[in-house]
Parts: sequence; structure tokens; C-alpha cells
Amino acid sequence: MDQYFPHIQGIDKQKEAMTSLLMHLANIHSGSDNLPGLEEMLSALKEAFSSLGGKQETLALKSYKCLTPNGNLIETPLGKALSITKNRGAPINILLCGHMDIAFPANLPLEKCKRIGNGKLAGRGTCDMKGGLVVMLTALQALENSPFAEKIGWQVLINPDEEIGSPGSRELFLHAVENKKLGLLFEPSLPDGSLVSARKGSTNYSVAIRGKAAHAGRDFHLGSNAITSAARFTLAAESLTDQKNGVTVNVGHIEGGGPVNIVPDRAFCRLNIRVKNDRDLKIIKEKLKTIANIENNREGITLILHQDSERPPKVFDKKTKLLFEALKTCAENLGYSLEWEPTGGVCDGNTLAGAGLPVIDTLGVVGGHIHSAQEYVVLSSLVDRAKLVTRFLMQIAAKEVNV
Ligand SMILES: [Zn+2]
Repeated sequence: MDQYFPHIQGIDKQKEAMTSLLMHLANIHSGSDNLPGLEEMLSALKEAFSSLGGKQETLALKSYKCLTPNGNLIETPLGKALSITKNRGAPINILLCGHMDIAFPANLPLEKCKRIGNGKLAGRGTCDMKGGLVVMLTALQALENSPFAEKIGWQVLINPDEEIGSPGSRELFLHAVENKKLGLLFEPSLPDGSLVSARKGSTNYSVAIRGKAAHAGRDFHLGSNAITSAARFTLAAESLTDQKNGVTVNVGHIEGGGPVNIVPDRAFCRLNIRVKNDRDLKIIKEKLKTIANIENNREGITLILHQDSERPPKVFDKKTKLLFEALKTCAENLGYSLEWEPTGGVCDGNTLAGAGLPVIDTLGVVGGHIHSAQEYVVLSSLVDRAKLVTRFLMQIAAKEVNV
């Protein structure tokens, strides 16, 4: 038993309360495009987090530009973000982040979450990452009820557009890193409980191609085939893949054309690039532009290459490694072990790390099958992770962990 123990032990008794709050949040359909659902989620979070005190702010996000299959850029509205700041004048300030949206479109009805035995709760968004929001809240409540609270200031930032690449909230994250020593993100850990160390960078593009329609029999020679152009473009783009060096280009969507007796004048595709470092990102983006230019120089073809979102690679540097090691020791003091490994997946931790803030971004719950109907959370991890984060925050406040 040490000086932290009395302030952590109460969390064991909160498992049912944490579970009920998680069920309440997970039963709200907060798909990134579901504005009424996001509004409801925002209200629920404001109420739940009001117990912490601090200054609550609702932040409107700018709409983002979306390329349609017809090649038009349209403004798409986004939900609002929630920011809470407390004790800003403290010597150490920490940023705690999460997202309130889920990867499930508004036009599909959400099934209520349910307990499925073995201490698990199933439901969309339970693991990614409403469970993480409950962990964050519980840890901050325990911190605020402890004498360590006055030594540490914090900002909570919860965005509504993470699952579509944070196109509107990116600026908020870049602004929030100012005066912070550390970023904690509550994305789920890997299914075996490991944290994520390095992450690849990820960039999404939409590509609209306009050709020239013509009768396939009478005037074939007058047409410019947009589908053929899309095929050339996507094959050339995909050939930039270099798996040995961790570079991948995935064409995830393609559509176009209509009746077979018309030379098609429309095609549309979407692709995703993943890289391990900034240098590769720059090279691949240049090459992609060159490929687009080749198509644009063809008779009768116009190709619009639109970047939808981008997250820079997150490198596991020396400072971040030391923080992970301190967290591992913290976990060992609570009686369990903690490992980490790199992944190709991205999150807002990429943006924070890219802006120079050391970040641990998988402090949320343990679970699996995220982004699917089988998504679940292991309920005991709500308690385990909340205890871990509380202890870690108190150790930082006590300067036992350097940030
Ligand atoms: Zn997530």
C-alpha cells in the first residue's frame, strides 16, 4: 500500500455505475453524420462530466468539403466538440482526448447494447470508444477527489468527427497541445490488452473523373471513357505500394458509368495511403499527383484529386518510450502487466504526436471487433484502466513520473 492506494480503491466499487453510464452512452446513435444523435451525445456527456467542475465549452466545427461522384465539392456539416478545462494555472497541464462519434452511418438503426456473458457488453461504440470516455471521466473524478488535484491542470477534448478523419476538429487538437506536457487518448487497447506504440500515417483521397459520353455504336470515336481512365489511375496508384517499407495504397471504392451502349463520362473512386514516416508520405503524394496529371493530359478527361483527411505517422520516440515504461511500472504496482506494439491503424494521437506532444493513445477499454455489429467491451477493463490512469495522473502530479 502506498500514498496513491486510498484514492484508487474506491474505483473497484464503481463497476456497475460505470457500466450503466456506458450503456446510456452506447444506446445513443452518434454516427459522425448523425447530427441530432451527436447533439444528444453532447448533452449526455456534458451532464456526466459536470461532476468534475471546470469550464465546459461547446465548440462548433467548420463544415468540411466533400467531393461527390459528380465532381462537385459540397460543404458537409459536422457535430460539435466538447472542451472542459480545469486548473489551467497548475505547473503541469495534461490533455485528455476522446471521440463521441461511432463508425456507423445515421441511416442504419442502432441496436441497443446488451450483456453477452463472460463479463462482456456488446454494442456499437462500446469499445471504440464510449468505454474509454467512461474510463477518462472516472479517473478524473478520482483525481479531483484526491489531494493531488491542485498540482495538475487538465483539458478534456471530445470531438464528433474522429471516425471520418477529424476533418473539422484537427485544428482544435493543434490548438490544444499548447501549454500541455502530455496527451492521453482513450481509444481502445488491442484485444489482448496491449497498448499501441507507433502508428502509421494515413491519408484519404476522393477522385472524380469526367470523360465524354458518346453512343458506343455510332460515335465511339467521339467519347472519352471515364471508367478506363479510373482503371489506369487506380492501377498506377496501387502500384506505389511498397510493403517492405510499410507503404500501402488501397483503392477502397470505385463506381461509374451506366448503360453499356454509352461511353461513360463519369467515374469516382476513393483510396487510402499508409506510410511509416513523413518522407515516404511526401514522396507518395507527389507521385500520386503525377499520375493524376497524366490522366488530366489525356484528350477529353478531367480528373479531380481531392484530399479528404490526413493524419501524420506517429513515431515511437525516446520520450514517449520512457512514458510507456513509467505507465508499465504503474500497471505492475496495480498487479498487472502491460505491453505495447506498433499498428497500421490511426487516430487523433497521430495528430497530437505530429504537433510534438508526447502521447499515449490507447488508454481506453479492452474489447474487440470494433466497427462491427459484434463489437464488445470487457467490463472489468473499465475499472482496471480507470485505476491505471488515476494512479498515473497522481504520479505525474507528485512528480514521480516526469513529463
Ligand atoms: Zn476510435
